[in-house]
Amino acid sequence: MLGTMTPLETTTTPRKYNGTSSIYLPTVATITNAYTETAMEKVFTVRLPGGENLNHNPGQFVMVSIPGVGEAPISVMSSPSRTGETFDLCIRKAGDLTGVLHDLVPGDQIGIRGPFGRGFPLEVFKGKDILVAPGGLGMAPARSLIDEILDNRDQYGRLIVLYGARNPAEILFRDTLREWRGRDDIDLLVTVDHPDESWVGHIGVITRLFPRVQINPFNTVGITIGPPIMYRFVIIEMLGKGLNPTQIWMSFERRMKCGVGKCGHCQVNHRYSCQDGPAWTYAEALAFEEAL
Ligand SMILES: Cc1cc2nc3c(=O)[nH]c(=O)nc-3n(C[C@H](O)[C@H](O)[C@H](O)COP(=O)(O)OP(=O)(O)OC[C@H]3O[C@@H](n4cnc5c(N)ncnc54)[C@H](O)[C@@H]3O)c2cc1C
Repeated sequence: MLGTMTPLETTTTPRKYNGTSSIYLPTVATITNAYTETAMEKVFTVRLPGGENLNHNPGQFVMVSIPGVGEAPISVMSSPSRTGETFDLCIRKAGDLTGVLHDLVPGDQIGIRGPFGRGFPLEVFKGKDILVAPGGLGMAPARSLIDEILDNRDQYGRLIVLYGARNPAEILFRDTLREWRGRDDIDLLVTVDHPDESWVGHIGVITRLFPRVQINPFNTVGITIGPPIMYRFVIIEMLGKGLNPTQIWMSFERRMKCGVGKCGHCQVNHRYSCQDGPAWTYAEALAFEEAL
């Protein structure tokens, strides 16, 4: 099974912002826009010096820092197809750094290192039906992939998105979801664990959506991004649909420090999640005792 794995591609080539090529030295970038997405998440538009293109793949992350506060990995939310002089990050207020980030406004500066890690292999996905199942904040990196596919629609087969959130207030990108619903080239189903009185959609955990879709297991790639408890069950559903472990991709959110495979914080057996991941096939994950 491992013989059919996609070779690990890493993208830790040092960037050369501000004349430096150190992978540890952040580039000073500027926030050009910031808006509240939900009570917990804000979206920030970020510009590198000179408007340099980030040149990332969907699924890759950047290390975001504020001197004296901290540094954390954040997935790139915008797709390569929509990344020019700026890129977007969707950030949940979770602790020290993200708490301070949420107070920043356009014109403020942050440190950026990256993009780092192995994202989703678009070349492998091309020509295939794509089943994306994000949960919660997993919709931010999923959005990068989905927008990339929508912007290059003729290069992919069917696009099915199954999105689960805990409650209606936590659903991300509502306007975008509405727009996707209006298209005939994307099948979107959204469910919430805990509905409120306004909710008229599906109710229950994300796995409840799977019986509602038919897929061709011979030509489909399954992708899941979300909390570990969710992807374990989503993988069972994907296997039940006939996908084999090499056709299932997921993104691990291991705690990371350096982002470039040096410090070992995110080590999974002999692999580094920051460098060999965060996107892995289920076949790869099965080979590591600690991964799941
Ligand atoms: C590849 C990757 C991509 C990510 N993408 C995103 C993204 O797009 N958007 C986003 O909002 N977040 C994302 N995250 C998560 C984000 O990096 C974390 O939430 C980060 O810790 C926030 O930093 P902080 O300083 O604000 O929070 P912290 O102060 O680090 O605290 C965050 C939470 O973790 C707990 N915690 C702190 N230290 C530890 C520890 N040692 N062990 C266990 N728990 C601890 C805290 O109590 C708190 O609940 C991503 C993580 C990874 C690995």
